[in-house]
Amino acid sequence: MSRWRAIVFDLDDTLYPERDYVRGGFVAAAEWAASELDEERQAVFDELWASFEAGIRGDTFDRWLERHGHAGEVNRRAMISAYRGHLPQLEPYEDVRPTLEALRGTVQLGLITEGARAVQEAKLAALGLRPAFDKVLILGEDERGEWKPSPRPFEDWLVGTGIAPAEAVYLGDNPAKDFLGARRAGWSSIRIRRPDGLHRDEEPFAPEAAPDFEVADLESLAASLQPPAASNQSPIANRQSPVSGEKQILRPLARPQDDGST
Ligand SMILES: [Mg+2]
Repeated sequence: MSRWRAIVFDLDDTLYPERDYVRGGFVAAAEWAASELDEERQAVFDELWASFEAGIRGDTFDRWLERHGHAGEVNRRAMISAYRGHLPQLEPYEDVRPTLEALRGTVQLGLITEGARAVQEAKLAALGLRPAFDKVLILGEDERGEWKPSPRPFEDWLVGTGIAPAEAVYLGDNPAKDFLGARRAGWSSIRIRRPDGLHRDEEPFAPEAAPDFEVADLESLAASLQPPAASNQSPIANRQSPVSGEKQILRPLARPQDDGST
C-alpha cells in the first residue's frame, strides 16, 4: 500500500500549465486596452507575452501602461480586472485525470491552492477537477498571511480527516513555498518538475525548503504508489512508457545538509 493516506496537490503548474492561464488573461487585457485605450489588440498581446517570456512578473501591466502613456491607478486596476475576470479555458496536463482516477479510493485526495479566490475557483471550474478531490482548500487574498510556506493550510486541510501529518504528502512545483510549508506542518513533499513549468529552473533557497522526492510527471507517481505485491516485479519496471526510465522513478532527494546517513 501507499505509505501515505492523503495525497494533496498544488494547482498552478502542477495540474495544468499556468502559462495557459496567463495567455488567456493577456488576451482579455489586450481586448480591454483595444476597447478602452484605442490600442491595437494583437500588438498589446504580443508585448505582454514578450514580457512574460522575458521573465517579467508582477508589474507587467504597470510597465506596459507606462510605456504607452496610460499610467495611472484607474487603468492599472481595470487592466488587472480584465486579466483576473476572464473566463479561463484550461486543460489539465495529460497525466492528471488518469492519475487521480488510479488513486481514487486508495488514499484521500486533496487540493491546496492560493491566490485571488475567484481566480483560483475559475481555474478549478474550467479544469473540471473539483469532483476528483475529497477536500479542496483555497486560500484567498484575505488570508495572504496564511499562504504557503505557512504550515497553516496543511494543518487546516487535515482537520476532520483523521489523518496524521506524517501520513500526508503534498505534491507541488514551487520550491519557494510548497515544500517548506509541508515540512513545517510535518508532511512529506514531492516536487513535480514539469518541462514547461514556470518554476522548473528554480532551486530551494534553503535545505529545509527542499522536497523529499521529485518526479517528472504524475504517471511515475501513480506507478510508485501501486502495491508491488500483485507481482514480484516492480510496477515501475513493468510500466510501458514513451519517456526514459529515469523519469519514472520516484526518487528521494538527498537534502544538502544531510550527511547521507538517513
Ligand atoms: Mg504551483
